[in-house]
Amino acid sequence: MIDLKGRTAIVFGVANKRSIAWAIAQKLNEAGVRLLITYQNERLKLEAEDMIKELAGAEAYQCDVSNDAEIDTLFTRLKEKHGKLDILVHSIGFAPPDALKNPFLDTSREDFRIAHDISVYSLIALSRAAAPLMTDGGSIITLTYYGSTKVVPNYNVMGVAKAALEATVRYLAADLGPKKIRVNAISAGPIKTLAARAIGGLGLMLKSHEERSPLQRNVQQAEVGGTALFLASDLASGITGEVTYVDCGYNIMGF
Ligand code: NAD
Repeated sequence: MIDLKGRTAIVFGVANKRSIAWAIAQKLNEAGVRLLITYQNERLKLEAEDMIKELAGAEAYQCDVSNDAEIDTLFTRLKEKHGKLDILVHSIGFAPPDALKNPFLDTSREDFRIAHDISVYSLIALSRAAAPLMTDGGSIITLTYYGSTKVVPNYNVMGVAKAALEATVRYLAADLGPKKIRVNAISAGPIKTLAARAIGGLGLMLKSHEERSPLQRNVQQAEVGGTALFLASDLASGITGEVTYVDCGYNIMGF
């Protein structure tokens, strides 16, 4: 049993109960972490506020990560209210629908920019805002996917963004290591969430993982949550800059 009582985490990326961020929040909550959950916009506010009632002592904050002013306001409030932060979970990804449907060759400059701004740059912006609050060191965790290194049909610009995200994890880990802040990515297998449903052929991805992964099944949100809890804890104190696969072993197979 991992005990993280007295630690505070901020979790980005809770849209609904299927969100990977929600499973991570639940695991952190079970370990005694005080949770600060953010939701993207007014539209998601009611659901987020309703969901966090399940998490003892949790608070909800609004933050669109494409907006620097919202990030500044959020972290100023957190500093005033909590002073210190131990864990940051970045479970955010977005690409305009056309970019996940049309041939990769047709990716527009604007769709490329948006995908990278929201899915990659936001990790840099949030880490920069959180680091001064991680006065006893910390753990920053983001979510990636196998499409960063292999071509996955329809994943398109998100694959390129995830490659950039994984490189960003390494550069941030090098910058923040001297402050005892670790930065890691979890590469999850496909899971039917809101974001995943935007990718054409999700059904095929799920089927292929079930058939070809050594464990012969798809991964569950709770398994990703468990790995995030491990990475957030002192059990992972020697791990930084890494990509940990939680995909039932799919990535090791040749075919
Ligand atoms: P999800 O739709 O539940 O979560 C995506 C989150 O991103 C949502 O909460 C959404 O509000 C948030 N978001 C998007 N734009 C934002 C913005 N501008 N500001 C603030 N928040 C914003 O889907 P998910 O599958 O839980 O996705 C979480 C992460 O996991 C993503 O990075 C995704 O790429 C990654 N991932 C998902 C899978 C999968 O198959 N579901 C596999 C591997 C990695």
